Amino acid sequence: MSNAPPASEGEWRPLRSPYARLVTDPIRTTQALLDPERVLFLSPSTRAILDLCDGSRTTHEIISSLKKQHPNAPIERDVPPALASLHAKGALAYSPLAPVAVVTEQERDGARGDDLRPPLAMTAELTFRCPLRCGYCSNPTDLGAFADELSVEDWLKVLDEAADAGVLQCSFSGGEPLLFDGLEQLIARARARGMYTNLITSAHGLTEERLDALVRAGIEHVQISVQHADPRRADALSGVSAQRSLHEHKLWAARAVVARSVALSINVVLHRETIESVGALIDLAESVGAVRLELASVQSHGWALANRAALLPTRAQGEAASRVAKAAKARIGAKMRVVYVVPDYYADRPKPCMDGWGRKFITVAPDGRVLPCPGAHALPMRFDRVLEGATIEELWRTSEPFNAFRGTAWMPEPCASCDERDRDFGGCRCQAFALTGSANNTDPTCSKSPHHAVVTSAREEAERAAPLIQLRRYHRDRG
Ligand code: SF4
Ligand code: SF4
Repeated sequence: MSNAPPASEGEWRPLRSPYARLVTDPIRTTQALLDPERVLFLSPSTRAILDLCDGSRTTHEIISSLKKQHPNAPIERDVPPALASLHAKGALAYSPLAPVAVVTEQERDGARGDDLRPPLAMTAELTFRCPLRCGYCSNPTDLGAFADELSVEDWLKVLDEAADAGVLQCSFSGGEPLLFDGLEQLIARARARGMYTNLITSAHGLTEERLDALVRAGIEHVQISVQHADPRRADALSGVSAQRSLHEHKLWAARAVVARSVALSINVVLHRETIESVGALIDLAESVGAVRLELASVQSHGWALANRAALLPTRAQGEAASRVAKAAKARIGAKMRVVYVVPDYYADRPKPCMDGWGRKFITVAPDGRVLPCPGAHALPMRFDRVLEGATIEELWRTSEPFNAFRGTAWMPEPCASCDERDRDFGGCRCQAFALTGSANNTDPTCSKSPHHAVVTSAREEAERAAPLIQLRRYHRDRG
């Protein structure tokens, strides 16, 4: 069976990605295709085409079948470009042309940042407990403040509320979510409610039996973090000492996931030490059969902020990594989606953090706090908790923190009058707070920000010799 990319002429047999799932979204009353950490909303005609893309029909046969159903429609004209577009978006195969993160109709119909839509994706942070001690960890430094954890019963209600609110993607994360007893029950509930299920894990402690249980529960995508391409450096950077190399265990786990026909992503946090091995990391991800490789630039939040001088790559390192990632995307093509974003500190403009505050994403922290992004726990705001009266849908729509930076009305100058404000939404609120002391400020990574000097001086600092990365420390009673 062949599944070639669409040629301008000639036949091929389109095959829907085995890791993608077609759903009817009851909240938005539309069709959607879900795959690892992404949602594509579909028109009825695109859904009809995708239903026929089972790898057995040629494009000619798909056209013939649709012509029988719709004799007066311009099928021959419309279907080939629709298939090419689906291929480019990764719906028929993973493609380097597919945009990062979540693609929604919001981009396609040009909706402005002020429009309120249902939440698209939820990160369920089940616990901040973790056996690893990564120096780039962006979780809170004060874990004592997050010692309370929701129970399995609580999370089951949260998942129901999330589905009712319109969430289509659910990522189980942490800390290390494998430490949470009852994870399988939660995965099963998320699947039963139609959500695409993602597990974000270090794979520490994962066994054949546990993986089988996760698969039986309905996990669809596992993302495994890798600390470095070199096994010895990887183990040292994870801060775990064990008889068996954790890195080797991760590679075993990655292959075990693929062997069970579950989509695999490899995630690497790029910092001063890992960024030079981007080529080897790409090779590693390909060798274990990943369908997606996320090369995530280190974020200066939580524990990582204290390590910033040790973690921030130099400009030359960033530029070299960009070139390697670009060449790999061109070489690998549809086989593996390589997601690489230029480090914030070296871009002139900030990223559209979370695709806009309170616009698509919701995070529920281990203690039930509902946040617009996983880093928001550091902000001096009072976040409401789940199951304390208001539903997730109500919190999404009406809670003060979600509305504080939603849209563009909150923006100070220079964002308020900037013609790029609907593209980047003023950048990252957590970064603005960490670097300027106020979340209300323009993200200082923007060259138009009056606080941009803090970023240029951090860049200068990065050009000097770096201190050693300090592994994450935990205190028994204070987190
Ligand atoms: S970054 Fe490392 S230490 Fe922090 S939660 Fe993830 S695996 Fe654990
Ligand atoms: S001024 Fe604000 S809106 Fe304009 S590019 Fe910079 S961060 Fe984005």
